[in-house]
Amino acid sequence: MSGKLQASVTVVINSIAQAKKAAGIRVYNLSAGEPKMMTPQVVRDAANEFIQQGDIPYPSPAGLNELRKTAADRMNKLYGSSFTQDECIITTGGKMAIYLLLQYLCGLNSPLKANPNDKIGVMIQAPFWVSYPSITKIMDGKPVIINTSEAGGWKLTPEMLKAAYTPDCKVLMLNNGVNPTGIIYTRSEMQALLAMAVELDLLVISDEVYSTLVYTDDEYVSCGSFPEYKKHVVVIQSASKAFAMTGWRVGFLFAAPEIIDVMSALSTQSTTGVCLIAQHGALAAFKHADEINQWVNETMKRRRDIFVDAFRKYFGIQLESPKATLYVFTSLASLGVTGMSDDEFCIRALEEANVASVPGSGFGQPGYVRFSYGADEDDLDGGLENLAKFVKSLTK
Ligand code: PLP
Repeated sequence: MSGKLQASVTVVINSIAQAKKAAGIRVYNLSAGEPKMMTPQVVRDAANEFIQQGDIPYPSPAGLNELRKTAADRMNKLYGSSFTQDECIITTGGKMAIYLLLQYLCGLNSPLKANPNDKIGVMIQAPFWVSYPSITKIMDGKPVIINTSEAGGWKLTPEMLKAAYTPDCKVLMLNNGVNPTGIIYTRSEMQALLAMAVELDLLVISDEVYSTLVYTDDEYVSCGSFPEYKKHVVVIQSASKAFAMTGWRVGFLFAAPEIIDVMSALSTQSTTGVCLIAQHGALAAFKHADEINQWVNETMKRRRDIFVDAFRKYFGIQLESPKATLYVFTSLASLGVTGMSDDEFCIRALEEANVASVPGSGFGQPGYVRFSYGADEDDLDGGLENLAKFVKSLTK
């Protein structure tokens, strides 16, 4: 694709892998951005039941009121926030929540623009989820990338935020449970980041879609849990990873009612709202949320441990177990691979060893690779065995 529009790198890698699979080749999928699991039966049953009653009209653009309330209550219960039904809108996945919000904040009618030609700066920590800068550019905003480092634990600090700030910056895109690094922020770190964001008069978008995929006893800190910063924060959530419902496309945006009203208006001119079948599925998931969250979390934790063990077995490297998400982010140098870009490495690993992974460049971190342990357990051990052989062949 040309110009400002770029297909997400993760999607491109996935499609090459799909083509191989279609040709009957066994591909080890270490690239998936999702927990590879069946959607829970209760969710499928509820959706079926809704289909069978047959009356499936246009949805309300903000979503089913019962689902908005249930999602807000769940956030409040898990993370100590205080969102109401009017502060929640249902979106076509977390991605559409971010898309519509950045359209509002960076687009033609942005309330943050003094002049129509202004470009709104969106501050984004790198490595980042591939879609943040892409969506920002699509909406005519300006991504302002702040590099973090492995030595610094991949963490953004208030000092880094202040140093990267320019007066056109109006938005901070935070991600806790970070894709691709797998880190989480502590309460004091998050408090300090929010204090700095407010000092700089930034609206904070907090992407929390991995909040239930934390594998340690560390507290998951939602930006919604700071009453003093509530009006400066928009929280993005999703049924995708929490309930193994990636294909259902149900996400949530929590914000002040004025923002929800604008999102709702934008929905009327884009999706018209979220498919009611999926919303009924999500409603059933919330009714069983504790069990489903636990089931997905335990399954992913087990796969994380299998991945880390296999990595030690085949590469002789003891990885630090990621605390959250579905990802291991590691440098080519740590694998002993030199003189090759991460793009080339991932393409050759797929072509020569049938292992799909994602180059760090797509996340703004060249020289690194992201592996996902969301895949089937067979893929994890077999994939790493193949990958280790491939790496050996490179370094001979
Ligand atoms: N945010 C992050 C950090 C992600 O990794 C993803 C998906 O991979 C999303 C948001 C979007 O998820 P969904 O649109 O499925 O809710």
